[in-house]
Amino acid sequence: MLLEIKDLVVRYGRIDALHGISIEVNEGEIVALIGANGAGKTTTMRAISGIRPAAQGSIQFAGEDITKLRADLRVRRGICQSPEGRGVFPGMTVLENLDMGAYTRKDKSGVAADLDRVFGLFPRLAERRKQVAGTMSGGEQQMVAVGRALMARPKLLLLDEPSMGLAPMVIQQIFDIIVEINRQGTTVLLVEQNAQQALSRAHRAYVLETGLITKTGTGQELLHDPSIKDAYLGVA
Ligand code: ATP
Repeated sequence: MLLEIKDLVVRYGRIDALHGISIEVNEGEIVALIGANGAGKTTTMRAISGIRPAAQGSIQFAGEDITKLRADLRVRRGICQSPEGRGVFPGMTVLENLDMGAYTRKDKSGVAADLDRVFGLFPRLAERRKQVAGTMSGGEQQMVAVGRALMARPKLLLLDEPSMGLAPMVIQQIFDIIVEINRQGTTVLLVEQNAQQALSRAHRAYVLETGLITKTGTGQELLHDPSIKDAYLGVA
């Protein structure tokens, strides 16, 4: 098991945003976390990357207890987040943004190889490597954010709402790329409001409702679960 979250409680002041959730991610998986607005998805990601402290419970990564480990040290252990709302450096070029992703690394040839890999996954970024990121379209900025996270060569890639604000065709492309990234060996935990896409691409998924895990299963099981259909998949 790569990531094991046990009975995690996260608070904002006196309010519990997560009431004791347990999530497991095995090496090689794509795991999706779905839920409505305010369910606690982003909070879960922040707790894993170390931006928000755990009030209770534990987080194990690759056999190590990281519950109290600093965020930057978690990046060094191989946990890397592509944040919600993209979070690219708008004044920097595509190439500069990608370089920032590799700032903890000293293996220059490995970094160069990963840059080639990112450009292979996102040919659009290769074409536009000198463009200032803030002038790119929403989908392109999402590609920069995912590419930047990959430049850290993560063991676990955390993706917060990769489809947010994107047109259906671009969403398909982003998910195709997520599947390809996974196929190349990166474990992925993704948070999504687009349950249809997330469940159809994920090996396993968890449903989060107001700070509690209410359901878990394979992506396909949840995709065909009537209660999930009603609550998250809308009327087709
Ligand atoms: P969305 O899909 O809308 O982004 P989410 O599932 O990611 O929602 P979170 O952002 O994790 O939800 O929020 C979970 C709960 O914690 C919400 O009730 C939210 O209002 C609260 N919360 C989040 N951030 C803070 C904060 N900085 N201070 C106080 N409460 C917060």
